[in-house]
Amino acid sequence: MHTALYWLTNDLRVDDNPALLRAANSDRLIITYCLDTRELHPRRYHLAQLGNGRRQFLYEGLRDLEQQLKAHQQQLHLCYGRGDEELAQLIQDYDVGRLICARQAGSDERAILAKLQHRFPDLAIEEVDNTTLFSSQTLPFTTAELPNSFTPFRKIAEREAIAHTLPTPQQLPPSPCRSENNVVWGMLRPASIIAEPMFQGGSQAAQRHMETYFSSDHPQNYKEVRNALDGWDNSSKFSGWLNQGSLSPRQLFHRLQRYEREVVANDSTYWLFFELLWREYFQWLALRLGNDLYRFGGTRQPKRNPGCFYPERYRRWCAGNTPYPLVNACMKQLLQTGYMSNRGRQIVASCLIHELGMDWRYGAAWFEHHLLDYNVGSNWGNWQYIAGVGADPRGGRHFNIDKQTAQYDPSGDFVQHWSPQPVQSQMDSMGIDDWPLET
Ligand SMILES: Cc1cc2nc3c(=O)[nH]c(=O)nc-3n(C[C@H](O)[C@H](O)[C@H](O)COP(=O)(O)OP(=O)(O)OC[C@H]3O[C@@H](n4cnc5c(N)ncnc54)[C@H](O)[C@@H]3O)c2cc1C
Repeated sequence: MHTALYWLTNDLRVDDNPALLRAANSDRLIITYCLDTRELHPRRYHLAQLGNGRRQFLYEGLRDLEQQLKAHQQQLHLCYGRGDEELAQLIQDYDVGRLICARQAGSDERAILAKLQHRFPDLAIEEVDNTTLFSSQTLPFTTAELPNSFTPFRKIAEREAIAHTLPTPQQLPPSPCRSENNVVWGMLRPASIIAEPMFQGGSQAAQRHMETYFSSDHPQNYKEVRNALDGWDNSSKFSGWLNQGSLSPRQLFHRLQRYEREVVANDSTYWLFFELLWREYFQWLALRLGNDLYRFGGTRQPKRNPGCFYPERYRRWCAGNTPYPLVNACMKQLLQTGYMSNRGRQIVASCLIHELGMDWRYGAAWFEHHLLDYNVGSNWGNWQYIAGVGADPRGGRHFNIDKQTAQYDPSGDFVQHWSPQPVQSQMDSMGIDDWPLET
């Protein structure tokens, strides 16, 4: 009997899932998601990686997947503990010969795979390109040759054909284990949830959103409105599902192409593809960078000191209590919804780095904890970019907050909505240079 283990991470779907198709080629199949306890407790940068909002979104995504697997006479096996130990236990107990998973860019997941390979030298580990438009075979670069910045990548990648979505497996091999998931469901469900979650996890919600979005005029106006700070209909809002893997980028790409064929193809529809290529670039860049993705100096020698840690500044930035009303409103939006617009992310990141003089990695860790659409490559790659230690050929981005406010919130509605109280603190009347400089 040939037993395979499919380790789910950021690929929570049954449709267009090359890893699942590959795993289906076995006699017995265990499909598992492991809630790694280390993600629930403060670790690096004194923050748990998985904040309550993300936990809720993940819970919904896994519940949805459980239903889909049941419909295929399979089951979701949940485990809770240290990822490497839980997976090792399954491998040992069920004499697993193959482990299949999405290709992993995150350092924790890579460490788990390395430990398993060390402990089980005969285990075949198959990492599958499950979360990107291209696969390592169809990507027009090897990872090592990936350009250092987006434009040369985009110019070549946008001309390449993107493979069709894959069929859903008709049948899946049976699981050898009986899963008792109740305890883990309880651990997954956070005690308190964010006030106004904007997204519901899972592929059914993703498909509904995709159909609603492409049944509207929004795609043909996307480029004009995508920079707005607020408003469900302005940008496309696919990021949460893409990064949970309950929607594949190829499913979205082909739905966009259908819209272009059946409704209209214009600058805006192209731009949505353009943005998907940004996502794509950051996924492959993360693979190329490995642990350099989290390095203070990033991929290049910074032109300026990339900052250090000022606890009071950081605390106030996180809480949305800085002297900058626009930044405060964005940060409160993040706390209440688990989402922030791309424009908002750029402004608050620039503020933390360039106005407050902070080490960018604390900001990236705060985003990792809160963003429902957290993605290792997109998050840490964008932070590096703004800090001037990443893939930006201009060496970093410093946004003028007054100009951004005048351009994107001229009537003050956004600030009024998210942060209506004027900030009350003596420190607010001080210039930023007068803030306490604790280290
Ligand atoms: C500091 C910082 C941190 C970020 N962290 C994340 C993150 O953890 N996860 C994440 O998905 N995006 C991240 N982004 C990128 C971007 O802000 C979000 O993808 C976008 O706001 C999601 O909303 P949307 O789906 O409506 O995007 P849209 O504007 O509608 O774009 C469509 C899709 O293109 C992709 N995309 C767009 N812009 C970018 C970009 N700059 N980088 C990578 N992909 C992009 C996303 O998948 C998005 O869903 C970050 C940006 C910054 C500046």
